[in-house]
Amino acid sequence: MKALAKLERGPGLILTDLPKPEVGHNDVLIKIRKTAICGTDIHIWKWDDWAQKTIPVPMQVGHEYVGEIIEIGQEVRGFSIGDRVSGEGHITCGHCRNCRAGRRHLCRNTVGIGVNVPGAFAEYLVLPAVNAFKIPDNISDDLAAIFDPFGNATHTALSFNLVGEDVLITGAGPIGIMAAAICRHVGARHVVITDVNDYRLDLARKMGASRAVNVSRDRLRDVMDDLGMQEGFDIGLEMSGVPVAFRDLLNVMNHGGKVALLGIPPAETAIDWNQVIFKGLEIKGIYGREMFETWYKMVSMLQSGLDLSPILTHHFPVDQFKTGFDAMLSGQSGKVILDWAA
Ligand code: NAD
Ligand code: ZN
Repeated sequence: MKALAKLERGPGLILTDLPKPEVGHNDVLIKIRKTAICGTDIHIWKWDDWAQKTIPVPMQVGHEYVGEIIEIGQEVRGFSIGDRVSGEGHITCGHCRNCRAGRRHLCRNTVGIGVNVPGAFAEYLVLPAVNAFKIPDNISDDLAAIFDPFGNATHTALSFNLVGEDVLITGAGPIGIMAAAICRHVGARHVVITDVNDYRLDLARKMGASRAVNVSRDRLRDVMDDLGMQEGFDIGLEMSGVPVAFRDLLNVMNHGGKVALLGIPPAETAIDWNQVIFKGLEIKGIYGREMFETWYKMVSMLQSGLDLSPILTHHFPVDQFKTGFDAMLSGQSGKVILDWAA
């Protein structure tokens, strides 16, 4: 089968031919229709320090996808041939304390598809059936293909009650932009998003941000004054992984504010802890998606009118994957979709 893989320890990926995977008793076999490129795939493409430490080679990468079930293991219940599915890319152990308590997103033994085990950038993907998620007919393939990052945005944004609250999102990458749309959809008052990239800030405005602030040019405090926000933000969502953005966020939080951290900063990033202590901030780390509560919420929000379509900025047949990766690498993109059926 056709697969996009890293065959040598170095930059780039190759479209190659790999054996079709075998389906185990508890697995489903998915024929992939569409995939999307994640920031993680970009790290793997660039072969940066994280990728060199983490990715075994050879590795078939990718974890954002939608496809159709074409084969089912003999122990599998609840799925049928022909079901259109995406799936949770975190494979959890099932026997640690958190897994047994139903908190699978906190499993200490998680492995990632397309990172630790063969991924979705291929004609066929084998997935434990418990990880598959059926997509309702009224949700498009393109949107279903981005449920993984949409889930990161959903898990982070819905960590707190947003109704009537003022929210600051630092980082208008695809996940930050989707989070802005979610905050707007569920009833936040002001949704302010920051970045240093005008293309992405424009996209965030289209998707419902009250203000999209280029912090390399404009002062967040001026925007707050303009919005009549004397006291600060109630909710902060850090979605850049950039230390200065996190520090900026802490500076403008109101006392008693709640902060969720999705962006992955360099290890041992320093902050002013007095901001946390004397403001009585609550800080929550976010990893992945809640299985599967986040997935049900995603479907419900799309079915109740959340419009994420502007984030889907580029589409290519998989043979043109290099152009797709270039679009992501340029920073002038939202989500980039690769079509495996074309
Ligand atoms: P991305 O890299 O596309 O977006 C980050 C954005 O931050 C970029 O648009 C960048 O221009 C912007 N930025 C740079 N400097 C800034 C500054 N000073 N202030 C504000 N913004 C600034 O990433 P993404 O795919 O949208 O993911 C967002 C973050 O979440 C990344 O750090 C990613 O590694 C992380 N992530 C975490 C998880 C998890 O489970 N915790 C899952 C997925 C992604
Ligand atoms: Zn576990």
